[in-house]
Amino acid sequence: MPWTDFTCPDGWGIKIEDCLKKCRMDCGRCVSKPTLMAMAAGRRKWENKISATQGLNGTRLEYLKIKHDFAEAPVSRAFALLGTFHHAKHEKLEIPEALQEEFMEDELGTGFFDYYDPEEKTLWDFKTAGSYKVVKALGFEKVDVPTDEVYKSGAKKGQPKTRTEWRKGTPDIFEWQMQLSRYAWMIQDAKFPVERCLVQATVRDFSAMTSRTYGLDRQIYVIEIPMLPREEVVSFYLQKQQALLDALFDGEMPPPCSDRETWDGRRCAGYCPVWQRCDVGVKAHGQTEPAEEVA
Ligand code: SF4
Ligand code: SF4
Repeated sequence: MPWTDFTCPDGWGIKIEDCLKKCRMDCGRCVSKPTLMAMAAGRRKWENKISATQGLNGTRLEYLKIKHDFAEAPVSRAFALLGTFHHAKHEKLEIPEALQEEFMEDELGTGFFDYYDPEEKTLWDFKTAGSYKVVKALGFEKVDVPTDEVYKSGAKKGQPKTRTEWRKGTPDIFEWQMQLSRYAWMIQDAKFPVERCLVQATVRDFSAMTSRTYGLDRQIYVIEIPMLPREEVVSFYLQKQQALLDALFDGEMPPPCSDRETWDGRRCAGYCPVWQRCDVGVKAHGQTEPAEEVA
């Protein structure tokens, strides 16, 4: 993928290779050289096959990332880096018989799973995620419960007060479930049985306040992820791979990413590295001067 540049804290860009040679800022590096090198090493070249994680992103986002060089600020990659360091620590552990950090490929695309335990026939994925994502994955939903009190002053005077409760509902795990099911079927195809899929989720923003707000009582959760049927997984990735290949072949911008893919618009407004080339991203940033390719 053509992630070619870093964006410095003053907003200017620099080629990644130039940054690694010498920082252009008088005040010094925004993050350390080894961290920048780890980020640069994590870049993947597009080889006409969609990866399990790419398939979860919007086709437009992936199309723009493949077609155009883009920049990302090292400081905005902090959470992605947490995951990288987490994996790097595990890679150093030697666990007999276990499969770790293996790259897989089939006609549908590629995948890179974290850890497979052949004795327990279990596939693990190690994630760092915010409290909100974890609480949703655990299947809790926010409910405003009326109290006996009313507001005594202000704009809500006379209205009943409510308190927030998290109640058990349906787990919100679409992405984790699709990604792990994809790996699980690839591992099964390689003749390793998978009976369980588990996500080990480290709550990256755990604090006294977030634990109170979200009702979380620990920093690491192990969450069971039911494996989806093969046909559902194949059909999802087949459709995503074809849509991306067609768009690249025709040179035609795909439709905007869906609400799920944009995290209800938050990605377009703050976390999409190619927003300048997309009308939705330009609008989300309150700008009117887009880069050249805008749908
Ligand atoms: S280290 Fe940070 S501030 Fe320095 S050139 Fe690279 S991106 Fe810019
Ligand atoms: S700005 Fe939003 S809709 Fe546009 S490519 Fe990025 S994530 Fe997709």
